[in-house]
Amino acid sequence: MRLAELFHSIQGEGKLVGVPSVFVRASGCNLRCTWCDTPYASWEPEGPDVSVDEIVRQVAAFDTKHVVLTGGEPMIMPDIVPLAEALKARGHHITIETAATVFKPLPLDLASLSPKLSNSTPWDREGGRFAAAHERQRINVSVIQQFIDGSPDFQLKFVVSDERDLSEIQSLLEQLKHWEPSDVLLMPEGVDATTLDSRAEWVGEICKRTGLYTVAAVSTVTWWSRRLSRSQSSTTCGMIIGSPPVTTTCRQLNPPTRRTISSTGTSSPSGCQLA
Ligand code: SF4
Repeated sequence: MRLAELFHSIQGEGKLVGVPSVFVRASGCNLRCTWCDTPYASWEPEGPDVSVDEIVRQVAAFDTKHVVLTGGEPMIMPDIVPLAEALKARGHHITIETAATVFKPLPLDLASLSPKLSNSTPWDREGGRFAAAHERQRINVSVIQQFIDGSPDFQLKFVVSDERDLSEIQSLLEQLKHWEPSDVLLMPEGVDATTLDSRAEWVGEICKRTGLYTVAAVSTVTWWSRRLSRSQSSTTCGMIIGSPPVTTTCRQLNPPTRRTISSTGTSSPSGCQLA
C-alpha cells in the first residue's frame, strides 16, 4: 500500500474523540475535494509502497490498541483487506475513515463515513479538470448503507461550509436507514482557528435545532496534530509539543469547557490533550 504517513496521536473527532490511536494514512484518493486537508494523500500523493507486514510492524511499535486506517481513500487500496485482517488478528480496534464510495467486506469496529457534499466539488481548482469525475463519484447511497448495515458501529461525518449544506444532508439522510441523530456529526469546514470558531457557532445552533452532533473546534486539534506530526515536531500521547496555543472545547469535561492548549500543555491520566 502506498503510505503517506504513519503516526501516533489522539483521535480528534467523532465517537472516539480523545482516544490515543495509531493513524495509518494511505496515499491516493478517487475524489478531489476542493478543501482537502491532506493533499499529500490525494491531489499530490506522496509516500513509498509499504508491505502489509511492514505496516503491522510499525503499528506494533506503539503500545496502542486503536488503529485508524485513513487516507486519502483507504478503501481503494488493493491490500486494505489483508491489512485490516492482520491488524484485527493482533487484537487492534480498527476505525476506517472513508468517503464511503467503495465497499469491501473487512473486519472493522467503527466505520467513520464522510460522504462529500457539493461544497467539495473542485470547479475552480486546476481548471476544474477533476470536477466532473468528483461530482459523479462523491455520493454512493448503497455503499453508505452497506457500511451502516455491515459495521458494529458507524458515524456519518459531514463537512459543512454554510447553512445551505443542511438541506443536502437532510436529503441524503432521508435515503438512508438505521441511523440515529447521535450517529451524525457536523464538522465546520476550515483550516484555521478563526474560520473554525466562527463556523462552529452556527453549526452549534443547527445541532441544537436538529439533535445532530457537532465536532466543532475539536477538529482544530486534529489539524494541528497532522501539521506537527508531518513537521516531525510530533504529538505524543497526551501532550502537544511546540504547538501554537489552540483554544478548543473539551467534551470530556462536564459541562464541556473551553480550554487553551499551549506548548507547555500536559496530559491528564486519561490521555486527554487538554491541560
Ligand atoms: S475524500 Fe478525503 S482525502 Fe480524498 S480529496 Fe476528499 S478530503 Fe481529500
